[in-house]
Amino acid sequence: MQHHVGIGYDAHRFEAGRDLILGGVKVPFEKGLLGHSDADALCHALSDAILGAASLGDIGKHFPDTDPKWKGADSVALLKECKKLAEAKGWDLVNVDAVVVCQRPKLAPFIDEMAKNLGRALSLDRESVSVKAKTTEGMGFEGSGEGLSAHAVVMLKRN
Ligand code: MG
Repeated sequence: MQHHVGIGYDAHRFEAGRDLILGGVKVPFEKGLLGHSDADALCHALSDAILGAASLGDIGKHFPDTDPKWKGADSVALLKECKKLAEAKGWDLVNVDAVVVCQRPKLAPFIDEMAKNLGRALSLDRESVSVKAKTTEGMGFEGSGEGLSAHAVVMLKRN
């Protein structure tokens, strides 16, 4: 049995007039994240972690933001595509763990829904999906509310 770990990171800027989507869950807030797709930074970090663990590059390579096909794209669908790409190389997903760094809004009430949603998308049981939220005590771009970031690690296995 072979195991690989992968790391992913993403950050997006807040902008008024957009929905805030994290892990495929719409979080009520006065702003959303700016991006070509739905700008779901959590899904993007997880997608990059899966691709990274399988040595498949990153989502910019597979789903370029210059391609109109991905405009407003549902990032949960993109995440599922990344899993399929890894599976095509014989990899199975073992678990995922992620941190969303965000000062406002408070994400705690939505974390469980995000984890459940991601588990459904990735065919993982609830114990194999972890999502956490952190503030930066006001420091940096997340602290000032300019944007938020997400970090993710995944483990893949294959025979
Ligand atoms: Mg992104």
